[in-house]
Amino acid sequence: MAGEVIYYSKALIPTLRETPAEAELISHKLMLRAGMIRKLAAGIYNYLPLGYRVLNKLCRIIREEMNRAGAQELLLAALNPAELWRESGRWELYGPELMRLEDRHNRQLCLGPTHEEVITDLVRREVRSYRQLPLNLYQIQTKFRDEIRPRFGLIRGREFLMKDGYSFDRDDASVEETYKLMYQAYRRIFERCGLRFSVVEADTGAIGGSFSHEFMVLANSGEEQIVSCPSCGYAANLERTESLSPDSISYQQVEEGVSDNLLNLEKVSTPNVKTVEEVCGFMDSQPQELVKTLIIMADGEPVLALLRGDHEINLNKLQKLLGAKDLELASPETIERVTQAPVGFAGPVSVTGYRLIADLVTKGMRNFIAGANENDAHYRGVNWGRDAEPEQFADLRLSKTGDLCCRCRSALTFSRGIEVGHIFKLGTKYSEALGATYLDDQSKKRALVMGCYGIGVSRTMAAAIEQSYDRYGIIWPVALAPFQVIVLMVDPLDEQVRDIAVHMANSLKAAGLEALLDDRDERPGIKFKDSDLIGVPLRVTVGVRDLKSGVVEIKARKTGQSCKVSPEHALEKVLELLKGLQAE
Ligand SMILES: [Zn+2]
Repeated sequence: MAGEVIYYSKALIPTLRETPAEAELISHKLMLRAGMIRKLAAGIYNYLPLGYRVLNKLCRIIREEMNRAGAQELLLAALNPAELWRESGRWELYGPELMRLEDRHNRQLCLGPTHEEVITDLVRREVRSYRQLPLNLYQIQTKFRDEIRPRFGLIRGREFLMKDGYSFDRDDASVEETYKLMYQAYRRIFERCGLRFSVVEADTGAIGGSFSHEFMVLANSGEEQIVSCPSCGYAANLERTESLSPDSISYQQVEEGVSDNLLNLEKVSTPNVKTVEEVCGFMDSQPQELVKTLIIMADGEPVLALLRGDHEINLNKLQKLLGAKDLELASPETIERVTQAPVGFAGPVSVTGYRLIADLVTKGMRNFIAGANENDAHYRGVNWGRDAEPEQFADLRLSKTGDLCCRCRSALTFSRGIEVGHIFKLGTKYSEALGATYLDDQSKKRALVMGCYGIGVSRTMAAAIEQSYDRYGIIWPVALAPFQVIVLMVDPLDEQVRDIAVHMANSLKAAGLEALLDDRDERPGIKFKDSDLIGVPLRVTVGVRDLKSGVVEIKARKTGQSCKVSPEHALEKVLELLKGLQAE
């Protein structure tokens, strides 16, 4: 890589002391404070030189890995004619998030949020034969999405930088090969960025789970909850996680032996006691001894879902089980109609005319507590078979801490993540809609089989910060840092300090590194603060006092560890420390 020295005194790095009130997420706050971005309008940002440097680092890694995997870069038009989007049906389907506009001839256009239509149109015109396949094309481009409420800075903007790629193959077997290549390329991209990430299988409905993966940067502020198994590598979004409750295993064992010892069903007056917590407090019991009843509307029909008191329902699982199109919690009016009681007293006893589905974990429960379908009343001593009979016991619960992996029974890890990449086997959805075909080796016309592969580039920049910062500012991984080294002159007016610092910066440049030379005539405190804020991995501090002892200080941003070496040995030490940081 070509080295570079930037003089801070001439650079546009407008750092802020105060945190801007508009920012909610730490990455947003820090990018504003570090002078990396500035807001132009809601959800629209300008990238300043420091931010743009980081974006370019990301783009470079992405390009290298995409090219290495055999993909070719192109650049598609951002402004798209409506006719093309009508061909795919998405002009109507996409909704208000599609940024639409009209030109002077009243022709309708949109600013592309994604480019399946445009690329499929291009390929249907240019590709004729199986000999031209497979073809894998990508671009890095500004995309538009008219978010109703843009927030979180670059995490959810209305204008953002995306890498979107599309592959065209002759058949399923071939697209699966391409998909694997992309999967590996994506892993390498995020590994090279120095990010901690998880790859989860995404739900693709009809397409099949193993051909859609989401790449998540792990960060506590992430919107997505991820469950992963450290032993076998299983990972999924919380809503899609299948897991075992340690209790369900022990209950299954208990079930074999327990048949008697059933208490009588007893109605207890529970005035105004509604929530699981209130019922447990009132009856001096634990949530594990209670079965709660949720009324769910499945395609307009009420269904009673029964779960242990301390468990939450996973509506995805219920939806899949019922094969329902539309699922929602019932309104209070419906609950009253179904249970003949106000909200808070629903239960499975004596319910007729509605479907009852109970979570697997409740199967082994005995003598439990449940609502009595009567105002201010609960039952104690409820037992399956005698008092209530669900049509089915099934896995309905949301996975929770302590759950075990379905595949290998190891304890699962729960974390949060930010989705930065998504790879997807599209099949022939767009090629059929737009008539993108090729002639196979029998001269038979066939639809191209597609895959699509996205990376939110600007979002990845924000996610990297969400993953790595402290109270002083950003801590960049070396691969993404705007500069690898900052050379800080404590006394910029001192000739010797200046000579040594400039010489240091130039030797870093000669070694192929990017250095920011802080030559500003500012108080040292301000310069140290800015250096920490913008998060450059290594700082070389050159000051009069140290030079009297014949040394400069080298400090690592991440660990705060510092050492003093002679100016002659500084370069060698910097290279060694950078190597260590990159190997982490
Ligand atoms: Zn496992």
